[in-house]
Amino acid sequence: MDTAERQARSQDAKKRLEALEAAGVVAVAATFVDNSGITRVKSVPLARLPHLAAWGVGISTSFDRFRFDDWIAGDGAGVEPVGDLRIIPDVRRVVPLAAQPGWAWAPADRYQQSGEPHDQCSRLLLTRLVDELARQGFTAQTTFEVEWVVSAGDGDDFVPGVTGPGYSMTRLINRSDYCRDVLNALRDERVTVEQFHPEYAAGQLELSVAPEDPVSAADTSVLVRSTIRAVGVAHGLRTSYSPKVAVPGVGNGGHVHLSLWRDSNNLFAGGDGKFGLTETADSFSAGVLARLPALLAIGAPSPVSYLRLLPSHWAGVYACWGLENREAAMRMVTGSAGSESQAANMEVKCFDLLANPYLVLSGLVAAGLAGLGEGARLPEPVDVDPAALGEEALERRGITRLPTTLREALDAFRADSALTSAFGADLVAALVAVRESELELFDGASDDDLAAATRWAH
Ligand code: GLU
Ligand code: MG
Repeated sequence: MDTAERQARSQDAKKRLEALEAAGVVAVAATFVDNSGITRVKSVPLARLPHLAAWGVGISTSFDRFRFDDWIAGDGAGVEPVGDLRIIPDVRRVVPLAAQPGWAWAPADRYQQSGEPHDQCSRLLLTRLVDELARQGFTAQTTFEVEWVVSAGDGDDFVPGVTGPGYSMTRLINRSDYCRDVLNALRDERVTVEQFHPEYAAGQLELSVAPEDPVSAADTSVLVRSTIRAVGVAHGLRTSYSPKVAVPGVGNGGHVHLSLWRDSNNLFAGGDGKFGLTETADSFSAGVLARLPALLAIGAPSPVSYLRLLPSHWAGVYACWGLENREAAMRMVTGSAGSESQAANMEVKCFDLLANPYLVLSGLVAAGLAGLGEGARLPEPVDVDPAALGEEALERRGITRLPTTLREALDAFRADSALTSAFGADLVAALVAVRESELELFDGASDDDLAAATRWAH
């Protein structure tokens, strides 16, 4: 980042001060997401925003190795306490936080003191990969579905904070004010909510937001999760995005939707392939499908993620794809007749919300690009619950279960040269160190202990 860019950023921030002040903002929180999926923050008083936008605020390099419980997974060389980076917010995205009066938020990138990008910054990695897509003539539209549970009271035990059957009006009535406040807050933050509903599991709710370019979608996901948590605080509810809040039952997913576009044409519709896929969308999807075992190390990043990944839980644990198939890891969505050119997309179901959203989308874009480069082709789609096919048919059709442990996923990630070269050696080393450290921490832990230890972290 050179002087001219710093000046432009500072000017841009200055122009926004008046409106932020009028909205009652006194301080700005600048966030990034670490490799364990925790959103970390530094903040400044509002008057300091132009300086922050140009020069950032210091943050230790060790955050690349932070585990969810704040342990630092160093490599023994003793370098973690040494060095500093700058968190520089993207002020184009600054927004007053509706559920935290007086606060505004902006997503941030991490730069070196020299002004060079930090090579392990996940938001800058995603920006680079989206640029690579653009060089090849494509854009992507993406969104994260958010599933969460609310718990009543301050205790660490999970006490479903909303009661009534799944998807029921009873549940909505039961927490009508809270649900309204979540929707109001997101509207005030200019987030486009497409739908909201009570989900299946105890205390579970879900909302989905409109697709955006990948960096914006990851930013929005951070904002949505923080906002839901803040509204919960005001209502005496604790929020958990953990994939397994309570061991029995269904978990919280973090499904990702993605469509690929050239000019203004959705390549997931209007093609000659299955369900209207174009050859490009087929290859991109095939690149993702083939790499799902490795991508789980990014998208299902904790040992607790694997407590969710069970057949018959709509979590998509089979490495296959199918039209509207909720037990396939990749669910193809065409939309209703007549809406395909806007609506068609792939949904990756096996990921959860402990994942860093920038890394998840980076992984998907890198895998899709690899698929394009290889001219990969999707196998035959699956039109039933894969579990119903039986062992023999699964084997004959080459349909396998996705990794059932983080260890398995991590080994697949390490072995995948397309993903590791896109991420870069330093980020790969840090990611692997954090994952290994979490595996060690939970070695031999019971399912209940694992769920309890991770329930309130993210
Ligand atoms: N809660 C399920 C999961 O763990 C997803 C349910 C749905 O398809 O919406 O992914
Ligand atoms: Mg759902």
